[in-house]
Amino acid sequence: MCAGSPPGVDLREASVTVQRPGTIGAGRVRPERAQLVFDFAEGDRTQVDLLGGKGANLAEMTKLGLPVPPGFTVTTEACRYYLERGEEPQSLRVQITMALRRLENDLGRRLGDVVDPLLVSVRSGAKHSMPGMMETVLNVGLNDYSVKGLAEAAQDERFAWDSYRRLIQMFGRTVLDIPAERFEHELDATKARAGVATDVEIPVSALVELVEEFKNIVQDATGREFPQDPREQLDLAMRAVFNSWNTDRARLYRRRERIQHDLGTAVNICAMVFGNLGETSGTGVCFTRDPASGQPGVYGDYLSNAQGEDVVAGIRNTLTLEDFAALDPASHAELTRIMRRLETHYRDLCDIEFTVERGKLWMLQTRVGKRTAAAAFRIATQLVDERLITRDEALARVTGHQLAQLMFPQFDVDAERVLLTRGMAASPGAAVGKVVFDSATAVAWAARGEPVVLVRRETNPDDLEGMIAATGVLTSRGGKTSHAAVVARGMGRTCVCGAEEIEVDAAGRTLSVNGTQVAEGEVLSIDGSTGEVFAGELPVVASPVVVYLEQGLDAALAVADEQTGELVRSVDRLLRHADQARVLRVRANADTAEDATRARDMGAEGIGLCRTEHMFLGERRVLIERLILADGPGARDAALAELLPLQRADFVALLEAMDGLPTTIRLLDPPLHEFLPDRTELAVRVAVAQATGRGDEPGVAADVTLLSAVDRLHESNPMLGLRGVRLGLSVPGLFAMQVRAIAEAAAERAAAGGRPLVEIMVPLVGSVMELHLIRDEMDGVLAEVAAAAGGAPHIPIGTMIELPRAALTARRIAEAAEFFSFGTNDLTQTTWGFSRDDVEASIFATYLDKGVFTVSPFESLDRDGVGALIRMAVQAGREVRPDIKLGICGEHGGDPESVHFFHDAGLDYVSCSAFRVPVARLEAGRAALASDTAGGRL
Ligand code: ADP
Ligand code: MG
Ligand code: MG
Repeated sequence: MCAGSPPGVDLREASVTVQRPGTIGAGRVRPERAQLVFDFAEGDRTQVDLLGGKGANLAEMTKLGLPVPPGFTVTTEACRYYLERGEEPQSLRVQITMALRRLENDLGRRLGDVVDPLLVSVRSGAKHSMPGMMETVLNVGLNDYSVKGLAEAAQDERFAWDSYRRLIQMFGRTVLDIPAERFEHELDATKARAGVATDVEIPVSALVELVEEFKNIVQDATGREFPQDPREQLDLAMRAVFNSWNTDRARLYRRRERIQHDLGTAVNICAMVFGNLGETSGTGVCFTRDPASGQPGVYGDYLSNAQGEDVVAGIRNTLTLEDFAALDPASHAELTRIMRRLETHYRDLCDIEFTVERGKLWMLQTRVGKRTAAAAFRIATQLVDERLITRDEALARVTGHQLAQLMFPQFDVDAERVLLTRGMAASPGAAVGKVVFDSATAVAWAARGEPVVLVRRETNPDDLEGMIAATGVLTSRGGKTSHAAVVARGMGRTCVCGAEEIEVDAAGRTLSVNGTQVAEGEVLSIDGSTGEVFAGELPVVASPVVVYLEQGLDAALAVADEQTGELVRSVDRLLRHADQARVLRVRANADTAEDATRARDMGAEGIGLCRTEHMFLGERRVLIERLILADGPGARDAALAELLPLQRADFVALLEAMDGLPTTIRLLDPPLHEFLPDRTELAVRVAVAQATGRGDEPGVAADVTLLSAVDRLHESNPMLGLRGVRLGLSVPGLFAMQVRAIAEAAAERAAAGGRPLVEIMVPLVGSVMELHLIRDEMDGVLAEVAAAAGGAPHIPIGTMIELPRAALTARRIAEAAEFFSFGTNDLTQTTWGFSRDDVEASIFATYLDKGVFTVSPFESLDRDGVGALIRMAVQAGREVRPDIKLGICGEHGGDPESVHFFHDAGLDYVSCSAFRVPVARLEAGRAALASDTAGGRL
């Protein structure tokens, strides 16, 4: 189908341009005589890249024999060419002429003819539906002459002039960029003069005058007459669609959603059908199930005697589908049949636009509908029960992100609410607090126990403390990669960003939104899962899904209504299916018996990381202090002897909670100075005491000793300093004490009839020599404890792989390690040379914005860099020690995308925070199914 391309149009030339982010369409190989126009009857839904979502689905519906008005699609390739060169490919004009001719012959009418004219709509349609793209222009082809032909053919003058005024209005606004108010103002004036409330009541004579007025507006705004040539109308509209690919809003949206900038949009030209032909006509939208709740049964709105966007514009009250059934039973019955057909064909929830023209139903759009997290789970299992999809497919259709959304506390749906505005859902959760406008106030108020919501235009690194202190963060500017969004997500703080309707007056300590003022100290409720901002305090309830996860299905069902019950059952079924499908085991990071129990409830199959440093906080901090200040072996041993029973008791409790499940305990990791008081505070205290002549008092003398210890241990880069195994090698007895506590705890549990499966993990190893040295000491202690207990269970000793050198020398390290656990937080820091706490606040927003990375490497594993090290170490470790156990215990263990990587890399387990365990279970199952199709894991 390339007969239309004249010689001389070399479409290949564009492909020599080097592809850079942000440039359009470059780097693609194009056939010399590309087909740039496809009739709806030619394509199908697989061609979304070329025909865009709307075009591909119109083609699919046409293929299914559904009543779609005929038309054709101009490809994304034509758009890319145009955007690159600033002009359409020459052959496009001819191809459109030919397609138009086919359409005209098909329908027996000519575009913009003076008798019975063919009219078309010009509709944008990119691969992903996107805000900011040009809105559809309806009724293209009408002019001063064809409007009369239309009136004649339809036997309805009012309809013809209404259609013409709509064309000029839409064309003026979207193609010619004339402010919409100018037209609306005139329309309102006309209604007022005619003494009518709605547009359908405007009499013909007034409509004719209105058209004249609209044409004057166009003349006035553009300096030229409203184009009367139908083909020129079409060409201008098409070009405007192409141009709209690059509007600021579209670009911003693509950046936020990580959609490539060089896809371009298709343009659909579709024969008009008219919903505005009187009471037997109308237009509507419908869904094959409720996309908000997932409730089965169709759902939709209908507006009679209306065209296009009237339904969603809310200019008149819409009817429900039941009302529509009463009004036009035949069309309703056909629509119902088609909805069923589409759902069984797409095997998913469909979102549909239709129009009825004098009792005849037409389908104008369909797509697989977007849905909420709850609807995703419910619909997936409904479709399984209806035998439309398999359980594997159902699992593929829900995501860990959606499950995580369902686990956050929520605002009580039954509570009365006043929605103030909506921003972007940047970091989920439900936060209620008093409004504050600066970081210092946030910190001060939070310190006196008042929950606050920090409201800023945008945040910057100076706001960090305030963000930490606040329960929620709300900004009026910036997208999902803004500083506020990135930092809030990083620390799990609820955040709504880019709520553009909010005017923040930080100096005046007030905000205004849609006419409402909110002063500092007044309460707001923000929903980081939906982006909604409510006035006042909304009650927060625990998620029913969490009740299910923690207490089981029966407990959750007991408190759930019918719909929530179905949701919880769906989650249960899909999670259990994931558990069956997955190869990866899922463990939790937990430091106490309490956390461990909770993790176990959530489905954790072990502890992948128990951080022992948490056991030295609070009252026990002084014991570590004593260890640090010890001035000789005697004092040191005494301090260690005091710590031993405390540690042992911790481990006994932990091993009891995790009886029968593997439990990995990590030896002390952080630098010791973290257990000492703040250096500045201490120095000030000492200085003040000395200056006021109290330098000799005993308390002050102790402070002086402490200060010198703090000074001695001070490091400029603690993250890269005296910590982990280095600490174990330089503080005699410390690791030995911990190992003894672990071994004695295991022996105690075994003696009590338990099944302790403890593993000891050495942090921050970079060289096998470090591990050998530590092991020598540890093996001695283990043997001693075993002898004393008269035999003891084997305790595997392994290491973290969290330094690039450890990954690079994994072959050597595996000689001394019975397992590897990838510490991906530190491995990411050390691979990138990032200090997380510093860079997240200072440069990540910029990096995300500039596209250095599309997601923080601390949130989702950097496959190319950190991932390469992991793959290397996995392979080396297995070569040396085929039965080596391999896991990961960084926060990435609970990140959906990263879980897929860990599955593919061939790890045995992931370990993440208890709350993330269900997410990891679900994604591990999905990863197993995905890799079965893609060819397996390492
Ligand atoms: P959007 O992407 O905003 O949904 P659409 O191209 O689907 O844009 O169209 C906007 C409105 O115009 C919809 O209500 C659609 O049903 C209607 N519409 C589009 N093309 C036609 C047509 N050929 N005849 C009648 N109505 C149409
Ligand atoms: Mg639409
Ligand atoms: Mg670490």
